[in-house]
Amino acid sequence: MEISRRKFIGVGAAAAASLTLDRTARADILGEASGSVSGLTRSATRPVVVSSANGIRGVARAYDMITRQNADTLDAIIAGVNIQELDPEDQSVGLGGLPNEEGVVQLDASCMHGPTKRAGAVGALEDIATPSLVAKAVMDYTDHIMLVGAGAKKFALEMGFKEQNLLTEKSRRDWLRWKACLNPFDNWLDTRSDSAPPPRTTSIPFDDPLHVKFTTGTINMNAVNAAGDMSSVTTTSGLSWKVPGRVGDSPIIGAGQYCDNTVGAAGSTGRGEANIKTCGGFLIVEFMRQGMSPDEACMKTIDRVIAMTERRLLDERGRPLFDLQFYALAKDGRFGSATAYEGARFAVADSQGARLVPMPFKFSRAERPQMPEVRCRRA
Ligand code: ASP
Repeated sequence: MEISRRKFIGVGAAAAASLTLDRTARADILGEASGSVSGLTRSATRPVVVSSANGIRGVARAYDMITRQNADTLDAIIAGVNIQELDPEDQSVGLGGLPNEEGVVQLDASCMHGPTKRAGAVGALEDIATPSLVAKAVMDYTDHIMLVGAGAKKFALEMGFKEQNLLTEKSRRDWLRWKACLNPFDNWLDTRSDSAPPPRTTSIPFDDPLHVKFTTGTINMNAVNAAGDMSSVTTTSGLSWKVPGRVGDSPIIGAGQYCDNTVGAAGSTGRGEANIKTCGGFLIVEFMRQGMSPDEACMKTIDRVIAMTERRLLDERGRPLFDLQFYALAKDGRFGSATAYEGARFAVADSQGARLVPMPFKFSRAERPQMPEVRCRRA
C-alpha cells in the first residue's frame, strides 16, 4: 500500500497511542464508558492522583506516599512517573524510550509545584533516564525554567545524575526496522536476509509481520493532597523517529502540563504538535477557573484542538487523524479527562484505590477514521 509520507506521520501517531494504552492497561476498570460529558462531578474527595493509563502503578505509589508518608505532592508524582521512566520495557518514556530518526533517545519533561508556584523543564535530554527529576532540579536549583539539549545534560551530570545508554535492544531493533522500511529504493532489505547490512551487535528479527508505526507515549500525572496543595508532571521520550532536536508538548509549561494551586492541574498525552498550538494544560485550568468541571474543561479543549488543526491532519469529515488525551484534577478533588476517540482510559488513585477509568470521548470507535498500515516490501 502506498500512502503519502505526511499521511503516514499523522495516522501513525494516532494508531500508536492506543497501542501504548493497551499494553499498559492491566488494572480493573471501574465505571462505564461514556461519550457524554455531564458536568457532574465524578468525585470530590482528597487526596487524589490522576494520570495517563500507563501511570497506573505510579498513581498507586504517589497516593501511598501522599497519604502514608505525608510526602509533598510533586515528590510523590515524580516518584510515580519514575517507575515507568526506569522500566526498560516501557518504550514511551525514559530508559527504553523509542529514539529519534538517528537512533538517539531524546527525552522531554516538565513539572509544576502548586504551593510554591514554581516550574521546571528539560527538552531533548540525552543519556539520563529520569528527565522528570532533572526538570525538578532545574526548578529547585536554578533561576531558569527550561534547559535543553547538551546544556540540560551537562546540568544533569553536574547535579549527580548518572549517564547511561537509554537505547535498549528492543528499541534499537524497532528503530532499525523502521529505518529499513522507510524507503523502498534505499539499500536496506526489509526481511531477514544473509545479505542484509550487519546491525550493530545482533541480527535484526525481520521475520515477524512488518508493520511500521510511529509511536507516541507519555505520562502526565497530577495530584492534590488533603490540604488542597497540588502538583503536576509530564515525562516522555516523545514521538518516535522524530527529527533530532524535536521537542514536543511535554516540557512546555502550559501545554504538556500546568498547575495553579488555586484552581487545579492538567496535562496531556498524544500528538504534542496539536497540543502546543492550543496551550492545552493552561486552557483546561482556565476553563476550570471559569467553573467548568474537569471533564467539561478537557472536552472543550479537545474541541479547541480540532478547531486549530490544519487540514492535512483531518479526515474529510473534520475528524483528527491523531490521538490526544487530556487529564484534569480540580483543587477540590474532582477529576476528569477527554479524548477524541473512544477506547482510552486513564488512571486514578483515591480512597477507592488505584484503577483505570474510561475516558469521555468525542467520536465513537465506529467513527474513527480508517488508519492505513504501512507495510515493508518483502525481499
Ligand atoms: N505528547 C508527546 C509528544 O508529543 C508524545 C505522546 O504523548 O505520545 O512528545
